[in-house]
Amino acid sequence: MDRGFILKEYGRTKIYEIPSFNQTGLVSHGFTTRVGGVGGKPYDTLNLAFHVGDSPEVVINNRQIVCHILGAKTDNIVSARQVHGADIAVVDHRHAGCGALAGDTAIPNTDGLITDRPGLLLATFYADCVPIFILDPLNKVIGSVHAGWKGTAARIGAKAVKIMEETYGSDPGQCLVGIGPSIGPCCYEVDRPVIEAFQSEFGWWPDILLPAGNEKARLDLWTANLKIMVEAGIDPDNVELARICSCCNQHIFFSYRGSHGKTGRMGAFLMLKP
Ligand SMILES: [Zn+2]
Repeated sequence: MDRGFILKEYGRTKIYEIPSFNQTGLVSHGFTTRVGGVGGKPYDTLNLAFHVGDSPEVVINNRQIVCHILGAKTDNIVSARQVHGADIAVVDHRHAGCGALAGDTAIPNTDGLITDRPGLLLATFYADCVPIFILDPLNKVIGSVHAGWKGTAARIGAKAVKIMEETYGSDPGQCLVGIGPSIGPCCYEVDRPVIEAFQSEFGWWPDILLPAGNEKARLDLWTANLKIMVEAGIDPDNVELARICSCCNQHIFFSYRGSHGKTGRMGAFLMLKP
C-alpha cells in the first residue's frame, strides 16, 4: 500500500504510471499531467478534453501525443460524457472511437468504463477529481473510474469491482488498483451538504472529514476511496495511492478549484495491450 505512482518523461511529456500495473506487462496506462502538449493558456499545455473551451484541433493533437506514447490508436479511444454520477459502461469494439475526435460522440451519462478487449483505450478526464485504475491480471479485465465527491459517496469504485466480478468473474482479492493524483485534504474544503452526504454514508467519516471551522471540513478523497476499495474486497497491499495534490501542484496539474473553473483536463488512460 502507498507505494505511489511514478513520474515518467517521454520527451517533453510527463505522465504518472503505476509500477504494479507495469510489472504485469499486460497494460499500457498513465495519468497525464499538463506538461508536454501544444495548447495555450488557460489550457496549457496538455489539455485532453473537448468540453472545456479549448480548440478541438489542439485537443486532438494532444491526444495523438499521448496515444503515440501509449502505443494506442486514437481511433480506439473510448470515452464518456462524465456527469459526476455512478453509472459504469462495459464496452467492446463497438464503442471504439466514442468521444475520440469530438465530445458529442462520447458515451453519455457515464463515469466509469470497463472492458476485457485488448486495444481499446479507456479514457476519462480530470481536474481535481480522483482517477481510479483497476486491473484484473488473471482474467485480463480493466476498469477506469472517475470519482469526484459525488461518485465517491456513491462508491463508484466498488461498483466497478462488482461489475467486473459479475461480468468477467474477477476476484477482487487478485485485482490491482491505482488511486491517482487529485485534490488532497490539504486543499479540498467542503461545506455542509457534502459533509452530511459522507456522514450519512460512511461509519468511518471521522477518518476522512477533518474539521476546518465555520461548519466546514476538509475532505480526504484519497483515504475515502482506499477504504471503499478495501471494503469491496481489494487487498490493501494491491493498492497504489499517489497522494499527490492537483491543487497544490498547478505547475504540473490542471486544478478546477485552483483555477476557479477555467482550465484543462488531465486524462487517465488504460488499455490492455493488443
Ligand atoms: Zn493541496
